[in-house]
Amino acid sequence: MKAWRKRAPGPGLWCCDVPRPPAPGPGEVLVRVEAAGICGSDLHIEDWSGGYEFITPAMPVTLGHELAGRIAESGDPALPPGTPVVVIPSVTCGICAACQGGDPDRCIDRRGIGMTRDGGFAPFLLAPARNCLVLPPGFDPAIAALTEPLVIGARAVSVGGVGPGDRVLVLGPGAIGQAIALMAREAGAAAITVAGRDDSPRFGVLRRLGFDRLREVGDQGLAHLAAEGRFDVVFEAVGMPTLVAEALPLLRREGVLVIAGIHPRPAEIPLNTVVREQLQLRGTNRGRLADWRRTLDFVLRQGEALAPMVTHRLPLRDAPAGFAATRRRQATKVVLLPEPGDE
Ligand SMILES: [Zn+2]
Ligand SMILES: [Zn+2]
Repeated sequence: MKAWRKRAPGPGLWCCDVPRPPAPGPGEVLVRVEAAGICGSDLHIEDWSGGYEFITPAMPVTLGHELAGRIAESGDPALPPGTPVVVIPSVTCGICAACQGGDPDRCIDRRGIGMTRDGGFAPFLLAPARNCLVLPPGFDPAIAALTEPLVIGARAVSVGGVGPGDRVLVLGPGAIGQAIALMAREAGAAAITVAGRDDSPRFGVLRRLGFDRLREVGDQGLAHLAAEGRFDVVFEAVGMPTLVAEALPLLRREGVLVIAGIHPRPAEIPLNTVVREQLQLRGTNRGRLADWRRTLDFVLRQGEALAPMVTHRLPLRDAPAGFAATRRRQATKVVLLPEPGDE
């Protein structure tokens, strides 16, 4: 089968012919991929711009971690062939003390589908049955594949402690910024401003999702956003280290800055501002199991209302065009669709 793989540390991504995964063992499933989203992290890994060195020992490895599909072969009677599923990419070890103690969110030896084990930029992937959440029949797999980035958004909003009435600023209108805006609205935020730079296509998506406080940040930086009044929570979803310092003056006293971007360099931060204003700096990354369950409920409730986020549907073989559209910020989410010829 065809698979888009990272073969070595360094720039590049390769379309390889690889054997189809073996038949699933007990507790495993073979998933026929029906939709695989391209993520900002996939771009970082293709560019090899820093932050993903941890995947090197797993190479060669097939990328693709935002996945929906259908059970093709099953080692779990609860997931018969044909069942539509969304796949949780974080694979816990099942044997460490946390896993054994029923707290897999604290697993000390996890693997990531599409990072440190083979993912879904391919027609098939092998996954633990416990990583599959069942979808209702007929649900659009491309929208289901949005669950993963929306989980990142849901987690970020929980980390930020966003609550009813909050004034929220999201820096970065990409897929994660959009996910944060959606989940902040779900959490009851009163006003959600999203700032971007040369981002009209992705602002267009946000408008279709119902957001209207969209701010183009030109060369003057973030300072002019202060005119809108201080924010309770600011989310950094760009990965630009200088934004951290720029964002701090926009927070109210005791406000929270949540950092969600992957940064190529360290940031310089005016710590006295943090101390005197009693600001909270928090990092966020992947979601927990409970975030997956509640976010999938959100996705199923929203359904077609999330369709504007899926800006491109491309055949798997056109992955390079999808990467290019994402890199040019033309796309919110490019979803790759394997075809029979890829098998
Ligand atoms: Zn992702
Ligand atoms: Zn574990």
